[in-house]
Amino acid sequence: MSKNNKKYFEKSGKANLTTGKIKIKENINIFKCPVCGDKMNLDVFKSIICLNKHCFDISKKGYINLLLKPSKYKYDKEMFEARNSICKMGFFDPLIESIVSLIYNNISINSSNNISYTRILDAGCGEGYHLSQVMKKLQKKEDVHFQGVGIDISKDGIQFAAKNYKDIIWCVADLAKIPFMDKKFDIVLNILSPSNYSEFNRIIHSEGILIKVVPNSGYLKELRDLLYQGTNRELYSNEKVIEHFNRNFEKIDTEKVSYNVSVSRDELSHLIKMTPLSWGASEGIIKKVLDNKIDSITVDFTIIIGKSKKQISLPKWES
Ligand SMILES: [Zn+2]
Repeated sequence: MSKNNKKYFEKSGKANLTTGKIKIKENINIFKCPVCGDKMNLDVFKSIICLNKHCFDISKKGYINLLLKPSKYKYDKEMFEARNSICKMGFFDPLIESIVSLIYNNISINSSNNISYTRILDAGCGEGYHLSQVMKKLQKKEDVHFQGVGIDISKDGIQFAAKNYKDIIWCVADLAKIPFMDKKFDIVLNILSPSNYSEFNRIIHSEGILIKVVPNSGYLKELRDLLYQGTNRELYSNEKVIEHFNRNFEKIDTEKVSYNVSVSRDELSHLIKMTPLSWGASEGIIKKVLDNKIDSITVDFTIIIGKSKKQISLPKWES
């Protein structure tokens, strides 16, 4: 390579690679073509392509959109920005701490001579804050290489994540058709998001775990009381969600995480914007909530840890 060529290569090639693109290269073997189910290869850091030439571009920010058609669900940018502000004020910090401890208590890590490699998928990662925090805390603790992968059906969410949180692989993808090969993940996180247990079962390896976070009846009860006063949505039960988990995965541990967070009027307004509780509520009701001078919000979750039920054989999505 001549000097000039070398300069050009450095300028246009590797020097411009985002960490997201490098991580995609390092983990290219996990990708599965969402059209035909074939394995995928990297095409000069611009796209990933399967043997049947189904091709998906890697964006400048380093994420890949693997949806076959745009999602009908609309979550707007404003909602993700509001959610991120709430995350950054520490609203979910005790939950994140508990998740990290549970990861250490429930997976086997080789701490001796072998550096183990542990892959974590956040299924329904939204704007990426939870996964980015889990990864940060895990990286600090041990001599283990953790690789985070986040998927969400919302392009706005993934764009936000890719812009703000590096070192993680971000993909726009459908939970019903997860674009990864079988048994490639040690841990799947599913935090306050819908589940697809047959897909989780397929992608978690035999010793891996699923960590699902569900709200308890106390979660945001101050908002629920005002927004849903007098309706049948005032009370929330997670019983059916937990029953559904138990039918599909073998529960090995649960933990309750409950605490209160002080909120200012501004923070309360972000909280109202980020929560599905307020979707559909009129301006008048939202103003009433803000004027109610709520200064503390209840956070109340159950974290459930499960392993695959090995005896169950599940249909593959591509067939
Ligand atoms: Zn294909």
